[in-house]
Amino acid sequence: MALENKCLVCGSNNIEFNLDCKDHLTGGDNFDIYTCKSCSFLFTANPPSEDEIGKYYAAGDYISHSDTKRGLTNFLYHFVRRVMLSRKKYIISHSTGLKTGTLLDMGCGTGYFAGLMKQAGWKVTGLEKNEGAGKFASSKFNLEVLEDNDLEKIEDNHFDCITLWHVFEHFHDPVKYMVLIKRLLKPGGICIAAMPNCSSFDAQHYRQFWAAWDVPRHLWHFSPDTFRTLAEKNGFEIIGIKSLPADVFYISILSERHLGTNMPFISGMVKGCWFAFRSMLRKKGSSSVIYILRAIPSAH
Ligand SMILES: [Zn+2]
Repeated sequence: MALENKCLVCGSNNIEFNLDCKDHLTGGDNFDIYTCKSCSFLFTANPPSEDEIGKYYAAGDYISHSDTKRGLTNFLYHFVRRVMLSRKKYIISHSTGLKTGTLLDMGCGTGYFAGLMKQAGWKVTGLEKNEGAGKFASSKFNLEVLEDNDLEKIEDNHFDCITLWHVFEHFHDPVKYMVLIKRLLKPGGICIAAMPNCSSFDAQHYRQFWAAWDVPRHLWHFSPDTFRTLAEKNGFEIIGIKSLPADVFYISILSERHLGTNMPFISGMVKGCWFAFRSMLRKKGSSSVIYILRAIPSAH
């Protein structure tokens, strides 16, 4: 795949090396991050193919696929998840204007968000690549969990809302999914996509140690500007940008650990406060961003 030759966002082939990042989760392989000089889009160069990337998830205990609460970082992750779930639910009802409807949660993981929405009366479908996580989600929350191929069978204009919580940056072919999301959403339907922000204050501070590069699992590294360009090219308008304020603490603690700091938890929390404060004044500097997209009804 000639990923390194052409910018996904603007099509330019004016590409250059930007950073050398380490995979801290599995074997410690290094991957380069390249940048497009025309639009500043960043992406992981020469990532493993879709067939090969599985081992980069399986070797570590990839946190969003697990339900373990061992260790302080895992404990923090699960605590934060509880707090964030209600915020996500609020964002769905607020941005769709609906109390209930049809929802597709792409990359539903162990199904906590999808389960919560189902409990709230939504007709929820999950999509999950990881078999173990998908089985967990369907047995614990009695959810319908589909695989990629099943989506082709779903008719057009089916969903009121499609959510992707930290999923979009994992797709090998994100444009294919944008086209699919556009087809599956009702005209004017809402897509909510959360992802790390490579132009955030914490990304600028930690540089190659920033935990949300998460190479090679994260293939694309969006900023609010580059994501807007890609979304608009594919028939969406961005009607809102929100933050998941707790992400910055989790990312800062992990980044401090990558840096080899003595007390990563304390320094991560302290710096996280500073980044969080600054991003209150400038939302585009948030560690991760929730994009609220509206599918522009097609002309035909
Ligand atoms: Zn570009």
